[in-house]
Amino acid sequence: MKVPAEARVDLGAIADNIRLLRERAAGAEVMAMVKAEAYGHGLAEAARAALAGGATWLGVAKLGEALRLRDAGIAVRTLACVGVPGEPYEEAVARDVDLMVGAMWTLREVAQAAERAGRPARIHLKADTGMSRGGARGGDDWEELVDAALTAEALGHVRVVGVMSHFACADEPGHPSIAAQIGAFTDMTEYAEKAGARFEVRHLANSAATLTLPEARFDLVRPGIAIYGLTPVPRLGDFGLRPAMTLVADAALVKRVPAGSGVSYGHTYTTARDTTLAVVPVGYGDGIPRHGSNLLEVLAGGRRRTIAGRVCMDQFVIDLGDDPLSAGDEIVLFGPGDRGEPTAQEWADALGTISYEIVTRIGSRVPRAYPGGAL
Ligand SMILES: *Cc1c(COP(=O)(O)O)cnc(C)c1O
Repeated sequence: MKVPAEARVDLGAIADNIRLLRERAAGAEVMAMVKAEAYGHGLAEAARAALAGGATWLGVAKLGEALRLRDAGIAVRTLACVGVPGEPYEEAVARDVDLMVGAMWTLREVAQAAERAGRPARIHLKADTGMSRGGARGGDDWEELVDAALTAEALGHVRVVGVMSHFACADEPGHPSIAAQIGAFTDMTEYAEKAGARFEVRHLANSAATLTLPEARFDLVRPGIAIYGLTPVPRLGDFGLRPAMTLVADAALVKRVPAGSGVSYGHTYTTARDTTLAVVPVGYGDGIPRHGSNLLEVLAGGRRRTIAGRVCMDQFVIDLGDDPLSAGDEIVLFGPGDRGEPTAQEWADALGTISYEIVTRIGSRVPRAYPGGAL
């Protein structure tokens, strides 16, 4: 079916990016982070591409995402990280989803769910090594969690598979918190091992750390953004990664207007001369940032054009000057950049945000297409 706009995802690029990350991981396993619809690229499709490229684990934020991977027939080791009390942990255990445990309540609920399910829950202990977000802080909190987890393991309720933490500033090479977090992770892991933990995997590295910090790779790395071909550290370049997503829309209407025509809500753009306008059928309801009004560029008829006036819910306007363009002609909003279109990184830079937000926010009204086929 013909659609006004689509996000084309190059699954071959995802597989290639995983291969590059595996090389950089130098023997550590790769857990492909596919949370938030694989950063907007399509959960199951991107997950299969990552596995084809050599990832051996999948990681998501919410339990519901892990269960959807299972529904899609993907049985590989999958870790769910963020939960609240009362979630269906029994189903998680029954369907072989690994769970991150960073608080006593989680350990209690997961152990009880495992008893009901009649099999041990696979858990990864989460250490807060300096991000001050999830996980148990070093000292009493960590010791209490580790000791309780090992007791639950001895009772057969859990299997303590992993120990993990997360960097706050890995995208800022040389930031003093990086060495401090690696040190804290090493110490907290050592405490647990001395107490009797037998971890299969110790893991800390996100994309930035996988690419820039060999000492942070441990047994497994957890790249996210780099899988999708976007750099985690823009000032260090693209690391040879290939952006997987190209966002396109067809011109819905092309028309001549006279000089002095106010364009879109608020008339924040006025045509300087007689000109041709094109209506592009995506808006903030599709995830195009309204802050991109009069700011973001797109590629239309082979030339960069800035969004003219405000981004609306379902559409925006561009000023084509005298360029010939017809309704139905394809406009490229962002992509790998090889046809002259902006990249998601360029959009992020213009907006003062990160590429993660650009690709993740593209909404469900924009269908994902996989022109190269599934992997
Ligand atoms: C999202 C996430 C990652 C991946 O981070 P990137 O910066 O996208 O590589 C790694 N670990 C955890 C726990 C995450 O939530």
